[in-house]
Amino acid sequence: MDPVPAVVVDRLVKRYGERTAVDELSFTVAPGELLALLGPNGAGKTTTVETLEGYRTPDGGRVRVLGLDPRRDGAALRRRIGLMLQRGGLYPLLRPLELLRLYATYYPDPERPEALLERVGLDDPVVRRTAYRRLSGGEQQRLSLAVALVGRPELVFLDEPTAGLDPAARLRTGALIRELRSAGVTVLLTTHDLAEAERVADRVAIIDGGRLVALGTPAELLRGGDRLRFRAAPGLPVEALAAELRRAVGTGAGEPAELAVSEPAPGEYTVAARVTAELIAALAAVLRDRDVLLAELSTGQGSLEALFLRLTGERSAAEPPAERPAAEG
Ligand code: ATP
Repeated sequence: MDPVPAVVVDRLVKRYGERTAVDELSFTVAPGELLALLGPNGAGKTTTVETLEGYRTPDGGRVRVLGLDPRRDGAALRRRIGLMLQRGGLYPLLRPLELLRLYATYYPDPERPEALLERVGLDDPVVRRTAYRRLSGGEQQRLSLAVALVGRPELVFLDEPTAGLDPAARLRTGALIRELRSAGVTVLLTTHDLAEAERVADRVAIIDGGRLVALGTPAELLRGGDRLRFRAAPGLPVEALAAELRRAVGTGAGEPAELAVSEPAPGEYTVAARVTAELIAALAAVLRDRDVLLAELSTGQGSLEALFLRLTGERSAAEPPAERPAAEG
């Protein structure tokens, strides 16, 4: 392990009046790592990132970026990091290339602005002639990403870089983020795009109410979140099925009976349990005994989205609450 993490967040506390936006939050980002910071609206992601960028002073705890204190060593840090300024944070009357050329002058060894404009997909002649404030939301977003990258940073903070982008721009931005990672750039990515986070992140941190609720590689986080999905006639008694399956697979002495069956959509069932050959055989047997035909069966890990919703207490049609009433039949 490298002795100096690229980012250290150590029991960070940030309050706004009565509200504690960040509550004893701790995590680190290793050099060259891509960490995705996830959390529902108001979870404290932006507050955390802005503290790392030196825009906010912690009320408690400590942050370090490339070994430096962002408040004290801001000037030295700014040359080595890249950040996406929020919309409206750039000079409104400058055109894309003018803006990039201006930002390039702040860095010792900048990227070529023309080449960068092409990489973010803004080399269109009309876009090139258009002042920043007249660009579309997605174009402004991509220009903001280019600004973050123009100084060839060692570390970039990307705040929702794919928000509001059309599918093609989203793909291009995703590819650019993967390129950064391959080039050894450390990336702290804030996003609501869970599928993208699952694809690109080395590790994922999920925060809720300013606290860390999960941290690990996508594989680590999804392990144990196994699911068995099957289709059969709608309206099966899910509680009774769960009880029979528990008996059949014999959840060992002292083990909590963490096996649940739900019917997220009519005729589509989920068995939340560790998937084993024994469980699959038990399910087939239990359904046979009820004279129910098993129409489709699939095994696989849960998604990051399902985990996110479970941990942050949100509800969705895909993962219904556990207390969903069982239909009797
Ligand atoms: P989102 O996903 O919506 O961008 P976030 O995780 O980035 O959310 P933050 O912007 O960090 O969340 O906000 C955390 C909490 O702190 C929110 O409840 C927000 O209303 C509050 N907050 C943020 N900035 C301020 C401020 N300057 N004054 C008062 N409260 C603030």
